[in-house]
Amino acid sequence: MSQATYVGTATLPLTALTLYPGNAKRGDIGTILSSLRRHGQYRSLVVQSIEPPPDATPPDPIVVPVPLSGQCFVLAGNHTVQALSRHGRGDCGYTFTEYGTHRPCGVCGNDPGWVPAARCELVRCDEDTARRINLIDNRAADLGTYDPDDLAELLSYLDEDYEGTGYQPADVERLLAPPPSIEELADTYQHPEAEGAWPTLRFSVPPEVRDSFYDLTATCPDLNDVGARFRCLLDRARNAAP
Ligand SMILES: [Zn+2]
Repeated sequence: MSQATYVGTATLPLTALTLYPGNAKRGDIGTILSSLRRHGQYRSLVVQSIEPPPDATPPDPIVVPVPLSGQCFVLAGNHTVQALSRHGRGDCGYTFTEYGTHRPCGVCGNDPGWVPAARCELVRCDEDTARRINLIDNRAADLGTYDPDDLAELLSYLDEDYEGTGYQPADVERLLAPPPSIEELADTYQHPEAEGAWPTLRFSVPPEVRDSFYDLTATCPDLNDVGARFRCLLDRARNAAP
């Protein structure tokens, strides 16, 4: 068996699921839980059913083949499982207001009797395919990029309510802020030719060399400015050069 075969969709208690052994991805569980509370579980986990129930065929998207025997490894959605586990049993007390309407937690529905569970798509596959599915599901997300204009437009529709999206107001401000002009950079960091941005020379010399420096520059115009005295000395050296 080299490809995953869909068996059915089931809502399974977390106690029936096993996190994929050796899953290398480290997800942001807090952000995922925030999304689950706000949006509910909009995507099923992908779960490898080692011993599918005999009555689970033919595939039916609404079949709920529980109870299952054997182990169910989570190939995709391991951090969703961890987020649901962090939510824990019962009513978490979370609510939010949308368009003036009070809405319950998308995970527990504010039901005191809620038992941690997840909607799962059950697949049958061999060990090698299971490993490959776990790897590509993590990797494919990493390899994607964003069109910043499209992203900014989508975020602009949220009316600054970014809860559960993984975005913070500062992220959006950075995205929307145009790159600074040369003039703005110069205002902030000084013009590269302004004196404040000049390089600083700093070196140690024996006392007699210091005394010679002050003697040789004693007739320079600005005696209080060591840098000006140094430039004056360089001018004299340049003029004295053959
Ligand atoms: Zn809740």
